[in-house]
Amino acid sequence: MINGSSDTESAFLELKRFQSAPRNQWPGVTDEDWSDYRWQLRNNIRTLAQLEKHLTLSPEEKQGVLLTETKLAMAITPYYLSLIDPADAHDPIRRQIIPRIEETHEDEMDMDDPCGEDSHMPVSGLVHRYPDRVLFLVTDRCASYCRYCTRSRVVSGAGDQHLETDFDRAIQYIREHTEIRDVLLSGGDPLLLSDDKLDYILGELRSIPHVEFLRIGSRIPIFLPQRITPELCSILRKYHPLWMSIHTNHPRELTIESREAIGRLVDAGIPLGNQSVLLRGVNDDVTVMKALVQKLLMARVRPYYIYQCDLIKGSAHLRTSVRKGLEIMENLRGHTTGYAVPMYVIDAPGGGGKVPIMPDYIIDHDSERIMIRNFEGKIFEYPEPEGEGINIGEPEYDLDWQRDRKW
Ligand SMILES: *Cc1c(COP(=O)(O)O)cnc(C)c1O
Repeated sequence: MINGSSDTESAFLELKRFQSAPRNQWPGVTDEDWSDYRWQLRNNIRTLAQLEKHLTLSPEEKQGVLLTETKLAMAITPYYLSLIDPADAHDPIRRQIIPRIEETHEDEMDMDDPCGEDSHMPVSGLVHRYPDRVLFLVTDRCASYCRYCTRSRVVSGAGDQHLETDFDRAIQYIREHTEIRDVLLSGGDPLLLSDDKLDYILGELRSIPHVEFLRIGSRIPIFLPQRITPELCSILRKYHPLWMSIHTNHPRELTIESREAIGRLVDAGIPLGNQSVLLRGVNDDVTVMKALVQKLLMARVRPYYIYQCDLIKGSAHLRTSVRKGLEIMENLRGHTTGYAVPMYVIDAPGGGGKVPIMPDYIIDHDSERIMIRNFEGKIFEYPEPEGEGINIGEPEYDLDWQRDRKW
């Protein structure tokens, strides 16, 4: 192997290596405290003074931290903060969690509610966008706050708009709408609720006969793996089929601690998927994404979605091009395990829902045959059955819908 490529290969393997969170910045803390989620939450980093004890901030970051009183708040668990390399100003974990002054910049297309959730809420805190499933926002708090949060208009409680979930009416709505077979708990982070409250909500939902499928969206296994206690797992496992989507963006977020937390969930019978957001300077890179999806499989997590970053206000500095996303997908499909390849989606601005985005594998298609290309660029032909073929099942486009657009 030539020198250059063996360097790349060892950097790739290094990204995939599971390591423990370094604790050298937290000298006097006992193992017992460090592995107690309540200690982590009590010691959450929320102020400039606390943060500056651990990191030397740039002027852009310092100004960013100071403005978080009025918008999405800052919070960083000591555990997650310890994953940042203090010597690297461009650390991919740092970029996700440390506020920057660029958050005050607004691009022309930026929105407060990029996925149009507020206009699809039949009950406060319940989003009914798709025919057979609902998104149930059960809290506005997270263990730490991602700077590109798509729900930053309500999350953390710092801004003007507040999440006021009406639990009784939301559960009543689900009970009355027999078409709802899938309920997705999100927020905020549902696993920040107490064991008792989660037990209550899941119990209520499970008592509804037409609710077949429950799932939880959570970043706790990454921000606060200590929260995944045996007690929590024994509550969750009562409500099967229960699935979970976690949120990992960079392979260094998958530590030994998070792998163990994920293992406890999987051992409780919970199938895990991962959602990533494509972020400039974090994971808009083929090598990083490939390491991430392969490492997820080793942690027993199936990569589910890669999201193009929503047009959330103040996130332009973290967004990257769709072209880059397509390049990443092109370099995954066929080049690595099919289970490791997520679906790349854009949540259509204004409330169109998730739309899959794929490199073009169809070169030509008519009533007689389809011409396709594979991951190596080789071209193949597959015949259509006589008399079938194109126009069967072709979608009709609604060209007039924009007349009614609400934003
Ligand atoms: C993402 C999302 C869902 C779940 O979509 P799946 O593709 O089934 O994972 C449901 N409701 C809303 C509003 C969503 O944004």
